[in-house]
Amino acid sequence: MDQSFLPTTESVNKLIQELNKLPGIGPKSAQRLAYHLLRTPEEQTKLLAEAILSVKQKTKLCPLCFNVTESDPCHICSNAQRDRTTICVVEQPQDILALEHTGVYKGLYHVLHGAISPTEGVGADDIRIKELINRLQGSSIEEVILATNTNLEGEQTALYLNKLISPLGIKVTRLARGLPFGTELEYADDVTLTRALEGRQEF
Ligand SMILES: [Zn+2]
Repeated sequence: MDQSFLPTTESVNKLIQELNKLPGIGPKSAQRLAYHLLRTPEEQTKLLAEAILSVKQKTKLCPLCFNVTESDPCHICSNAQRDRTTICVVEQPQDILALEHTGVYKGLYHVLHGAISPTEGVGADDIRIKELINRLQGSSIEEVILATNTNLEGEQTALYLNKLISPLGIKVTRLARGLPFGTELEYADDVTLTRALEGRQEF
C-alpha cells in the first residue's frame, strides 16, 4: 500500500501497514484502528503491545495434540478426567474453543493446523497428519471424530484421513447433521455444534 502521498507520519504509516496484514482488516479499518490507537492513553497501548509479545513468548504447541498451550503437555492432554479412547480432529486451535464451549465433548483433540488444499498448495505433508497417524498407531484410541470444516478443503481432508485411519481398525466418524456446507467450526453456535457432535455418523 503506497501511503507516501498521505499526510501522516512514517510511524503512523508503519502501524497502518502492519494492522492491514491482519485477517479481516482492510486498509480503511487499518487506518481507523491506527488513529484509534493514537488517541488511546499510552498505558493502554502498552498493555496491548505486551499482550501481543507475551502470547508469542509464552505459548507453544502441545507436543501431543498441537493445541496452543503454556504447559507441556496441554491442560486437555494432561487431564486424567478426559476420555482417552476418543480423538476429535480439528483444523485450528480456535475450533477446540468452540467445541469445548458446548461442554458435550470429553475426549482428546488433534489440531491439524490447516486443511489439504491443492489450489493453495497445501498437501498432506504440510499439516499435522503424520503426527496424528503416529499417535493412533498402537494407542488405546477407539474412535476418531473428523471435525474439519464442512467446506471443500475440510471435506477433502476428512476423506483423506478416513482412508488412512480406517485400516488401523479405528472407528471414524464425521460431524454432520446440523452443520450446513461451508461452515467454519469456530463460527458455529453451541446448539448446532452439540447437535453435530451427538449426531456424528460413521464415515
Ligand atoms: Zn495437548
